[in-house]
Amino acid sequence: MVDVFFIERDPYAPIRHVYPVSQVLYQGKSQFQEIMVLESPFFGKVLVLDGVAQCDERFEYIYHEFMAHVPLYAHPNPQDVLIIGGGDGGVLREVLKHPEVKRAVLVDIDKEVIEVSKRFFPTMSVAFQDPRVLVLNEDGYKYIQDCEKEFDVIIVDSTDPVGFAHVLTTEEFFRYVYNALKDDGIYVGQTESLHYHIEIVRRVQKSLHKVFPIVDMYTAVIPGYAGYWWTMSVGSKVHDPREPKRPVSVQAKLYSEDMHRYAFLPKSFYQKVLSGE
Ligand code: SAM
Repeated sequence: MVDVFFIERDPYAPIRHVYPVSQVLYQGKSQFQEIMVLESPFFGKVLVLDGVAQCDERFEYIYHEFMAHVPLYAHPNPQDVLIIGGGDGGVLREVLKHPEVKRAVLVDIDKEVIEVSKRFFPTMSVAFQDPRVLVLNEDGYKYIQDCEKEFDVIIVDSTDPVGFAHVLTTEEFFRYVYNALKDDGIYVGQTESLHYHIEIVRRVQKSLHKVFPIVDMYTAVIPGYAGYWWTMSVGSKVHDPREPKRPVSVQAKLYSEDMHRYAFLPKSFYQKVLSGE
């Protein structure tokens, strides 16, 4: 038997993450990026953009549950939610599990990622049919500039901060996010691996501190991502993101009220991470 692997080149760290592969199900090039769907005997189907794995059928629930439920439960009444990126639909699926959500706007620059997800990842893309959803295919950085106190929660589920995704991690962008949030709004963005991409984590956290009065960070262990220990950075206008504001009743595999609190780093360790001690 021949072992075949997909080797992910990390855009920042000199490391390689390896996925066993049995088949290439799709390979194409959109206006923005190379899109690939692999079949893996261990991970199930894997979505790859520009050579970087985005999600896999086996473990996608961990990332998507934590990206969605932590900010939504940290808010007392999340009615209007904006997702920037997230074209696979995983975060959207979790967001719409909250009956409080009246409107979810998903802005992904690349229509083809959404089409590929609908074709190959039906359980992840299921929520695109929900009548509360508005999908726009444009640059999230441009879209957000025209929003004024519109959203309770903004989730940035973008590709790694290189190329057209880089602007989504800048201080200028966070100022637009702040303006687009209502008076008690909450922002969350994926900010890469705690170990392999610590410079990115610190840069984003520093920028958020210049814009938001409350800044924090939580983590989840994602087996499909290089570095595994993944960070999510939070900016909040009023609410302490560490505490759920409503009873947790969502149907989730891993997220729960306990896991919400557990996901946040102890404050002393969080300070160490930021200071680089
Ligand atoms: N969970 C994934 C990860 O971090 O590995 C991210 C998944 S989701 C597929 C990422 C999406 O962000 C892609 O579909 C990409 O098109 C979108 N994206 C990147 N930059 C963007 C921008 N400036 N505006 C809107 N969407 C963007």
